Amino acid sequence: MGQTARTTKLLLDLSTRDQGGTNPGKRSHLTATVIILDAARRFYLAFFLAHPDKLMERVEVISKKTGEVRAGVISADNLLTWAECQTVETADHPTPLPDWNFSRAFPDLPNRYRRSVIKDVIGKARGYLTSVTKWHASGKKKRKPGIPTASNHPTLYAGTFALELDELDLRKSFLRLKVYTGTAWVWVHYPTCYNRYFDRRRAEPGWETESPTLILSKQSAAIHFLQTKTITAHKIVESKRDPDLVTVAVDLNVKQLAVITVRQHGMIKETRFVSDHGLDHHRFEHLKRVAKKQWQAGKAVKGEHSNQQLWAHVRRQNRDCAHQTARAIVEVCAKYPGCVLVFERLRKIKPSGGSKSRRLNRKQANQLRGKINQLAKEKAYALGVVSVEVNPHGTSQYCARCGRLGVRFTYQAGQRVTDRGGRLFSCPSCHYECHADFNASVNVHHSFFREFHWQPRELKSG
Ligand SMILES: [Zn+2]
Repeated sequence: MGQTARTTKLLLDLSTRDQGGTNPGKRSHLTATVIILDAARRFYLAFFLAHPDKLMERVEVISKKTGEVRAGVISADNLLTWAECQTVETADHPTPLPDWNFSRAFPDLPNRYRRSVIKDVIGKARGYLTSVTKWHASGKKKRKPGIPTASNHPTLYAGTFALELDELDLRKSFLRLKVYTGTAWVWVHYPTCYNRYFDRRRAEPGWETESPTLILSKQSAAIHFLQTKTITAHKIVESKRDPDLVTVAVDLNVKQLAVITVRQHGMIKETRFVSDHGLDHHRFEHLKRVAKKQWQAGKAVKGEHSNQQLWAHVRRQNRDCAHQTARAIVEVCAKYPGCVLVFERLRKIKPSGGSKSRRLNRKQANQLRGKINQLAKEKAYALGVVSVEVNPHGTSQYCARCGRLGVRFTYQAGQRVTDRGGRLFSCPSCHYECHADFNASVNVHHSFFREFHWQPRELKSG
């Protein structure tokens, strides 16, 4: 049993009024809300750090599962009640601590927002106290943990927001938000960029919706909806005993981004090549420009980033490509329920040698492979597919059919040329010839089952 989480973004439409967006005043309300909630968070952070003993108080906790009573740290809910008692003026508690009167400092701040702020701060303050204790125990002089920052994205609890959907016309859907105008708290309607993709993700069965957060950036404002799902999956060791187990192996490369092979009963059932569609070369051209401009401009100014837009473009392309490739991998997994996804532990293609632009491009290619690996694992896990990493030793050098050492080669002008980085693979012992990346992908299955002599002993599950 495990848990997985994902977020779906819903953009607020902040374009001009005549384009269906919001009027400019509403945008400044969002900023004012973020600022006042940050201030409230700062208040409670200071309050909790001034009462460290209460924050780490040991109390008797009754286990929900077994009914057992044992000593544990006070729960966040109890702390919240205690903190409100000390700081908020109510009919029952007319006099909060004089130095910590929240009701005076922040009149009319809605209860829901106050609670979300306190909950947020409890986590931060506790984390800080734990790391300070550890730091004291370690006896180190340097690297004292810093006091956590109070600013965060506001969490929207029920009662501070409502999504109002027009079933017939999705474009007319809007979000009702309780915001601060600078003087008072009011409900304001914000038009959204509601779409079918968002609609589908929200309604997908098995996913629990958690409290969303408001993410405000320079250009845009969005609500991030967090969803969690409980996953039941077999352990790798259990799966391995199943004689009908299907394994999906992935070999990640630079130009053929992923070569996916599916194996059952010792036979390869399906193969899929995911090409980068020229991304590597395209990126190389951009990085040539970056390298040239850096050379022309001389030493970079400290604290300043050069070629920001170009880099943003490269990053965006990498991210999109990683998502697409990961989705292709997961699509294959979805066809075989109960399968195991097998990766090689990533080797770094060393970015040394060659021109500067070549080195930059290598680095980006490494990052892309890491991203594909990570995304594919996450997406597969959401389907209940567990992934495992195997040792990459020998997968690209040995023959997938007989297990003996082979050679890589390419065809140049109709001639076979032996080349370590060649696209094709040939085995001198059994005369098997195939695409080198396909051979490596099949070898990943062998590595998982440890079938050939060149396989190392250890196997790391991930
Ligand atoms: Zn062979």
